[in-house]
Amino acid sequence: MTDSSQVPAGTEHQSLYKMAQAQFERAADVVELEQGLREILKQPKNEIIVNFPVKMDDGSYRMFTGYRIQHSNILGPYKGGIRYHHDVNLDEVKALAAWMTWKTALAGIPFGGAKGGVNVRPAQLSNDELMRLTRRFTHALGTNIGPEYDIPAPDVGTNGQTMAWMMDTYVNTVAIVDRTRGRGVVTGKSLNCGGSAGREKATGQGVCLVIEAWAKARNLAVKDLKVAVQGFGNVGYFTAKIISDMGAKVVAVQDHTGAHLNGRGLDVEGLKRHNAQTGHLNGFPGGEDASLEAFWSVDCDVMVPAAIENQVTGKTAPLIKAKLIVEGANGPTTPAGERELARRGVEVIPDILANSGGVIVSFFEWLQNRSSEYWSLETVDQKLKDIILRAYSQVVKTAADRRCDNRTAAYCVGIKRISDAYKERGIFP
Ligand code: NAD
Repeated sequence: MTDSSQVPAGTEHQSLYKMAQAQFERAADVVELEQGLREILKQPKNEIIVNFPVKMDDGSYRMFTGYRIQHSNILGPYKGGIRYHHDVNLDEVKALAAWMTWKTALAGIPFGGAKGGVNVRPAQLSNDELMRLTRRFTHALGTNIGPEYDIPAPDVGTNGQTMAWMMDTYVNTVAIVDRTRGRGVVTGKSLNCGGSAGREKATGQGVCLVIEAWAKARNLAVKDLKVAVQGFGNVGYFTAKIISDMGAKVVAVQDHTGAHLNGRGLDVEGLKRHNAQTGHLNGFPGGEDASLEAFWSVDCDVMVPAAIENQVTGKTAPLIKAKLIVEGANGPTTPAGERELARRGVEVIPDILANSGGVIVSFFEWLQNRSSEYWSLETVDQKLKDIILRAYSQVVKTAADRRCDNRTAAYCVGIKRISDAYKERGIFP
């Protein structure tokens, strides 16, 4: 988890929720979704906003605003991450919640979609302040979350420690007999706290699995690929690490502190150590510091935006040399960026497919908590591979059958599952 308050340069202002709705409408047209279901699915079911006080280390009190948006639970409990970032707002969280609905439906796992967050700069808070903020936020959410109802997970600015505090707070507010079951209220926990093997790396691993599948279909070897990664947090770091372990060259990494390039391939572990020691990428001896423009125009085959939204824009997309964009982040490509990529025939593997590894292994964690089991890493890895590659094949096939782009195809698969469930159940009363 990292603070990203310093370099939002190049970010194109874009209402994420409008962007998510336009993506949905495009696919709804393709599957000829009936008007009533469009109206239902365009809105989140519940919008929860809480204002809560936190005692700071100097004894003062500060008020914070937190959100939990529950978009859909037609296929199972609401599911989605909790973000701590200074840009968190209602519009953003509504878009992120809707994307979770399409993501879980596309993966074919029995969850719905939700997202939450607190508007805060986490790097400016001490560890104790973050703990009190997390506990107070969880308390404010109360029974709006629960292991059978709404299950948070880590996202930007949060991690396994945040989940341990959320889980501990939640189980201490429910009846004693429900405490063991209550551990399943969040996923992305550490192994000590009931997490799953393979969860921490799962999103990056899923990104690498789809890159491998894309390459295989084109008779390309992963070891011959040059990959650039934006973001060096959970998703960015594990993507860079796993793809370089698979033999590819990670030629560029960029985060909120700067960019670093090496055409012969960066030592990802060395860069991680440097980043942990100094707090930034610049100055790493195994390559050269670079400008934002140099990062976006780097010579590479695959570009993985794995930081925040609105990064592949009308300004940055024309610079990109990659043949493939794999959206590790949620909503990294703006409509102007997407038009430019389409114009040049650059393929995009959309966020709701590319970064679904995290929620897929969160599902495994939830199943393990329910049955008091621990699965081996091999079991988790294999099951993740099966599910994400099945979703990938469905998207590729749908894109070919419907003659549409991958994003629209991914939505079509998810929307179809949800609309089938609505049609059979009907709308109450
Ligand atoms: P994180 O907090 O661990 O890392 C975020 C990274 O983004 C950091 O390296 C930070 O430096 C970088 N960053 C922030 N602002 C930036 C900017 N303006 N320019 C360049 N880099 C910037 O977060 P994460 O969990 O890795 O999440 C990254 C993205 O992946 C988000 O869009 C998130 O919603 C999505 N995602 C995460 C998961 C997960 O399991 N953690 C799952 C699915 C999707």
